[in-house]
Amino acid sequence: MSIDERAVRRRPTKAQQRKGRIRNTLLARRLTQLGFAVVIIVAAVRHQLEPTAGTSASVDALCPFGAMETLITWLTTGTLISRIHPSNLVLGGALLIATLLAGNPFCGWICPLGSVQDLLWRLGRWLHLPELKVPTRLDKQLRWGRYVVLALVICFSVSTAKLWFADYDPYLAILGLDWLFNPGGMAVAGIITAAVVLVGSSLVNRLWCRYLCPLGGVLSVLSRFSFLRIRRNENACTDCTLCDRPCPVGLQVSTAAPAVSADCIGCLDCVATCPSKGR
Ligand code: SF4
Ligand code: SF4
Repeated sequence: MSIDERAVRRRPTKAQQRKGRIRNTLLARRLTQLGFAVVIIVAAVRHQLEPTAGTSASVDALCPFGAMETLITWLTTGTLISRIHPSNLVLGGALLIATLLAGNPFCGWICPLGSVQDLLWRLGRWLHLPELKVPTRLDKQLRWGRYVVLALVICFSVSTAKLWFADYDPYLAILGLDWLFNPGGMAVAGIITAAVVLVGSSLVNRLWCRYLCPLGGVLSVLSRFSFLRIRRNENACTDCTLCDRPCPVGLQVSTAAPAVSADCIGCLDCVATCPSKGR
């Protein structure tokens, strides 16, 4: 066999190239999730070790949801929420603009609470815990829970002019690491929501994201207007429904017409699963 023939044989086909690209993208997603989780955990440890020095920000300073709370309070009352960190405003503004432009990869690629839930879901399968299937109709109704929580946050943030949700926020309860450094200082409400997330997301994939997260609710609304959405190629689709199985937020990708639901978190697992060449 000549050298040219061997080179042609070794050259990957288009399908192999596409598979390789998708594999690299999924790996990039996992590494990005890990990177942001490490940043938050390092920030939490530093803050816990120097709580009075004021040299390191707490993890709530790195949460964009605080910006939305203060923005709503400012629009309705003309005052800013007390103790808001400038980084909240920068992160919140950047997230709103990015979501309008590119959909919601924040939840699939960046949010450490989402990554914790991904990890717990995998752990649940590894431990052979039962997988709770939420009936489609109930699932649709439960998704409104995010807006109920959002409405409560708005009402109480406006009336108290403080970060009211902080006591209930599982992100702070889990990733703030009070349970490790200062368990006695944890709010009971935070312990309860953290327990719901920790147990629930090992039984229902991304339970908090699907049904309760107010930030996820805001991002879902904004995603409706975004330029970039995952789209099903109706001409290439064979209705095999394989793409429905890996969706962490339980979307029916196989019936998308053609854009998937605005609840999509851009994880690309459905794209990786699709066996069709024309996807
Ligand atoms: S829905 Fe909420 S908890 Fe879930 S990934 Fe998005 S912001 Fe994080
Ligand atoms: S629709 Fe696809 S990209 Fe969006 S969350 Fe579901 S699996 Fe991920």
